[in-house]
Amino acid sequence: TAELDTPTMTRKLIVVGAGPVGCLAAMSFAKMGWSVEIYEARPDMRLPSSRAAAQQRSINLAISSRGIAAMQAIDPAAASRFLDNVIPMRGRMIHNSNGNLDSQPYDRDGQCINSIDRALLNQGLLDEALALRSVRAFFHHKVVSIDFDGRVISVLDANAGEQVEKRFDLCIGADGSYSVVRRQLMRVVRMDFGQEYIPDDYIELKIPPGRDDHDKPTFLLDPNHLHIWPRHSFMLIALPNRDKSFTCTLFAPTTEFEKLLHADQILSWFRTQFPDALEFIGTDGLLNSFQRNPRNPLVSIKVCTLILTSYFIVFFPGPQAKPYHYKDRAIILGDAAHAMVPFYGQGLNCGLEDVRVLTALLHEAGVDPATVRDPDVFDRRLSEALCRYSESRHEDLVAINDLAMDNYAEMRHSVTTPGHKLKRMVDSVLFSLTCRTPVTLATLGVFPSGVTFLPERPRGWLPLYTMVTFRPDISYSRAKRKAAEQADVMAMVGSVALGVVVSVGVGWIALFYRRRRSYWQ
Ligand code: FAD
Repeated sequence: TAELDTPTMTRKLIVVGAGPVGCLAAMSFAKMGWSVEIYEARPDMRLPSSRAAAQQRSINLAISSRGIAAMQAIDPAAASRFLDNVIPMRGRMIHNSNGNLDSQPYDRDGQCINSIDRALLNQGLLDEALALRSVRAFFHHKVVSIDFDGRVISVLDANAGEQVEKRFDLCIGADGSYSVVRRQLMRVVRMDFGQEYIPDDYIELKIPPGRDDHDKPTFLLDPNHLHIWPRHSFMLIALPNRDKSFTCTLFAPTTEFEKLLHADQILSWFRTQFPDALEFIGTDGLLNSFQRNPRNPLVSIKVCTLILTSYFIVFFPGPQAKPYHYKDRAIILGDAAHAMVPFYGQGLNCGLEDVRVLTALLHEAGVDPATVRDPDVFDRRLSEALCRYSESRHEDLVAINDLAMDNYAEMRHSVTTPGHKLKRMVDSVLFSLTCRTPVTLATLGVFPSGVTFLPERPRGWLPLYTMVTFRPDISYSRAKRKAAEQADVMAMVGSVALGVVVSVGVGWIALFYRRRRSYWQ
């Protein structure tokens, strides 16, 4: 077309979904010289009416090094503005059934995860994106279908009550767990797809701010911890907010929730399971939340079910399905590609990292509308970069999805067990002995464009939580593999140590009986 023949090509990106991942993707592409349009089904979240609705259900999030590194790589100034609004959480505070508290720091070098209001983060990212001249957003515009080959997207404009068609060069699906873009992609690519609801639901509760001696609002719990009340088959967690309240989330099996139908059942269950938390939440607050707040399911979505795929990889080696993109014209990121249960606090971090990794691959492949004049070269490079994204990112997405699922058992049960405490202790001793120099976000610096992850194998002994949460230079899959290797070493050393203890014990008993026998003889 005439547009493509102009000396500097303008490429049009359509982002579906103005969630945090969609907004960061819009920022990244706008900075690379694309013209960006965001289509969002909901009304503008910055309007007072939308804010009121959001406040009724304001989930806060824990954002950690991967999310921060992603924002820094795309816009360091914006990242530091976000960091002004977070509350750092240095560790877990375990509230045991007997009322005892146990503070478990997250990191030897004092690194924190950060509580941030979800709405504040989303609105902030949207503001940052719309501050760029080449980004426009359309609210109340729900994408209904996409013709990838014709490069046309059909959008239902709820303001005008009509369906409109928009052309694009590239479409990014950042439209969350129930993604329309993913559904449309599945019609044109061989995408395996797995969706799993866990048998647990969650509901949000609130600990309001207390009042200090001067009648000023104050936190009722230590704000620099993520509070957990682990009760084996269910748990309550609480994250601090800037207004000095805490947002609590109760995760429990659906069968447990079904026992909590009336006020007296809810109160007596809380009095038995979480007496200290009930004191802070208040009986009225608890009952109001149970009445007003929705009980939501937890879903895990993988774009590839590996059981069949790995069979084919073993028996029919060759090019495999590349499921996150289509040619040079579509890709899915964030929850649209990999919704996960929230127990590692990585869903959004991973989604933001998707944007960083994709941006790095585009830089590496030289996909730059400002310098590549030949449209065929541009399309070929773009298609190769998207392809590399699918190939290289898949293993990481599956890894973090699985780790998130495994971490539920750790949070609601293992954190209270002596075995877990021993493992943490051994982990931290070995970590200190083998990795003396701290590696933090500050020492890593901002990721240069074109760098996805650290190319070398990470040295020394590194706890899994540290790698996942504080080391954005290590990919999720590498972290998972290294942790498995370390677990094998620990199991082997443990078996040898147990063998030695048992042998010494048996030897000592044998010697004891021999001496006793010779004494009696
Ligand atoms: P979303 O935030 O879901 O945004 C998708 C957007 O697309 C929405 O605005 C939606 O309206 C829009 N949309 C959908 N369909 C269409 C359409 N057809 N047309 C136009 N627009 C459309 N992650 C963390 O990293 N740390 C945490 O501590 C954490 N805690 C969590 C706690 C809970 C209880 C839950 C449920 C999740 C948690 N997560 C956490 C995960 C995190 O919330 C998600 O990973 C993150 O919100 C995904 O962002 P996204 O932009 O991909 O999708």
